[in-house]
Amino acid sequence: MIQINNMVDCCGCTACASICPNKCIVMSSDNEGFLFPIVNHTICNKCRLCVEVCPILNKKQFSDIPSAYLCRVKSSDILNTSTSGGAFTPIAQYVINKGGVVFGASFDENWKVRHTSATTIEEVSKFRGSKYVQSDLGKSFSEVKSYLKEGKWVCFSGTPCQASGLVHFLNRKYEKLIIVDFVCHGTPSPLFWKKYIKYHEYRNKSKVRSVAFRNKTYGYHSSTMRVQFENGKVYSGSNRVDLFMKSFFQDVCSRPSCYQCNFKSIQHDSDFTIFDAWHASKLVEDLNDDDKGYTNVLLQSKIGLKIFEEIKPQLHYYPTDIQKAIEIDGVMVYNSVPKSTNRDTFLSAVLNTSVGNFEQEVLKFIRITTFDKLCERVKPLLFTFGILSALKRIKYFVKKIMSSRL
Ligand SMILES: Cc1cc2nc3c(=O)[nH]c(=O)nc-3n(C[C@H](O)[C@H](O)[C@H](O)COP(=O)(O)OP(=O)(O)OC[C@H]3O[C@@H](n4cnc5c(N)ncnc54)[C@H](O)[C@@H]3O)c2cc1C
Ligand code: SF4
Ligand code: SF4
Ligand code: SF4
Repeated sequence: MIQINNMVDCCGCTACASICPNKCIVMSSDNEGFLFPIVNHTICNKCRLCVEVCPILNKKQFSDIPSAYLCRVKSSDILNTSTSGGAFTPIAQYVINKGGVVFGASFDENWKVRHTSATTIEEVSKFRGSKYVQSDLGKSFSEVKSYLKEGKWVCFSGTPCQASGLVHFLNRKYEKLIIVDFVCHGTPSPLFWKKYIKYHEYRNKSKVRSVAFRNKTYGYHSSTMRVQFENGKVYSGSNRVDLFMKSFFQDVCSRPSCYQCNFKSIQHDSDFTIFDAWHASKLVEDLNDDDKGYTNVLLQSKIGLKIFEEIKPQLHYYPTDIQKAIEIDGVMVYNSVPKSTNRDTFLSAVLNTSVGNFEQEVLKFIRITTFDKLCERVKPLLFTFGILSALKRIKYFVKKIMSSRL
């Protein structure tokens, strides 16, 4: 039966727990909130299905190299609430229009990130926007299988390891299954996220009403964590100053397996792989990069290619050079992030402190300078007077002139 000797060897995909015929595996939280399989040995019949299904122990061989596009959804409402160019929603919409079911990561009533399903376009909006926390898959894999067996279309979206876990669990091709994954930096600790939410509620003396990890008020390139409270207060903080996002990018709070990720490859167990297009104008000549966001989309399969043809009317799209897209925006396609030497002490310290001391404890490890704070303070003023967009336009033209000289 499955046995985890080293935490880096389990991404928490739930494939083993989902396949066990005797239901003797439960996914149990460690002291950082990451789920790992625990086997009840007394009812295990040693069939080894859990070992054979694990996507880390059993690697798949790929054949085709994907093709690449730069995309932006035409609907401005969808674009504004999506992380980058909103490419995910038209794919989900395709499945909903076929009477199918979409699975993705959403918040529950306590702001925990969980995989849930949706059967209407309105419901799909809960999946929009990246949630930089490991999502609890619950029984999603078994539910996906049941819907497919009923002959329904299913779209599953998740991390590359969740996508791979699902493919291994299903162990056969379903023509009505569409998998969307992304290029993945890593997934932070659910308990660190929980503490961060509690810290905000404590500071603002109110319950949280909404959360966006990458709100686009100040533009795609200056996106901010935005938390709204029931008492009307609003918190906004960019990656420069936000305690959660800064910790994420300093690699002190992700799942152990993310630092030695087994799913780093241009080819994925998915039909679509999506990722940020920070340098869209370098990929497509004369593109009007108006700071609203574009998504890099890799078409990984024949069904991906077919569906892309059908959703094209909902997108602005441009074919791109896949190697160039990876070179300028997709460093995470091939590389795992390095584990910070402070990672374990950081998480232990911040998870064991009181909410009142949370900020102080985080700041012992994460440096936020006076300059960072100053930039953050002047940003709303620059935005209000239109100076921020003028500066971005100047930066864009200077870059364009410089690159044409090289
Ligand atoms: C944890 C995480 C790490 C990422 N790392 C990178 C990176 O290193 N480089 C990069 O270029 N892009 C990364 N992305 C992808 C990027 O943030 C955008 O999702 C991507 O640009 C697509 O945006 P979109 O506007 O097309 O779609 P959106 O509407 O923003 O897409 C959201 C989709 O992501 C899924 N999703 C959101 N949160 C989670 C979660 N916690 N677990 C599983 N699925 C989730 C939703 O179900 C939905 O399908 C990451 C995303 C996540 C969630
Ligand atoms: S060996 Fe078979 S019965 Fe035992 S835990 Fe694994 S899947 Fe379940
Ligand atoms: S990676 Fe998935 S299948 Fe493998 S042990 Fe972990 S949860 Fe089970
Ligand atoms: S970095 Fe790798 S192991 Fe971590 S969540 Fe992403 S795909 Fe899974």
